[in-house]
Amino acid sequence: MSINVEVFCDGGYSSNSYLIYNKENCLLVDPANDLKTLKRFIGEKTLQGILLTHGHYDHFIQLFNALKEFNVPVYMHKNAYKKIIDNDLSCASLFGINTEFYIDQKSVIFVDNGSTIKFDNEIINVLFHPGHTNCSVSYLLLDKLFCGDVLFPYSIGRTDLPTGNNSAMIDTLKRIKKMQGDLTVYPGHDEVFYLSDAVKYNPYLK
Ligand SMILES: [Zn+2]
Repeated sequence: MSINVEVFCDGGYSSNSYLIYNKENCLLVDPANDLKTLKRFIGEKTLQGILLTHGHYDHFIQLFNALKEFNVPVYMHKNAYKKIIDNDLSCASLFGINTEFYIDQKSVIFVDNGSTIKFDNEIINVLFHPGHTNCSVSYLLLDKLFCGDVLFPYSIGRTDLPTGNNSAMIDTLKRIKKMQGDLTVYPGHDEVFYLSDAVKYNPYLK
């Protein structure tokens, strides 16, 4: 069964949500966008889980609403949990927004480097990619890399926000650059791109 990806970007924060899906099931990466559009697309498919790339408010702003609609586990790094319950750490307060909601730890599955998540007949590998935050993880499914705000087509995520770390980012980028195969990268903002193009044109990967 083939695995497809649909991009959603209508939530007003220019953050991308991705729906990984086959004919019957799906996974949502970053609940950042309008749930109505998303639900229409999901239709009869079963949502099996929500994957968070990191704990910045503009990537999980619809998480609490999504959990009311779907009773599914939320995968995240343990440091992301601290952010989603803290307006300062999630950077929401910087923008005058309140996203501080309680989320039951029972619905959370903590992931770290080396964790795996099953989808279809495939395995999603979790990679810890700190630098933009101390909770940034990427999800690798076949030749698709969902990397949140680590890497964009021509730039990288900020390292000057809380828990950002420049030297960790340099190390993370080196690891991504060495990844095998021509990956399609699904970033937290901006357009989907090929890693091989970023290696050529993104100055931060030189
Ligand atoms: Zn971010």
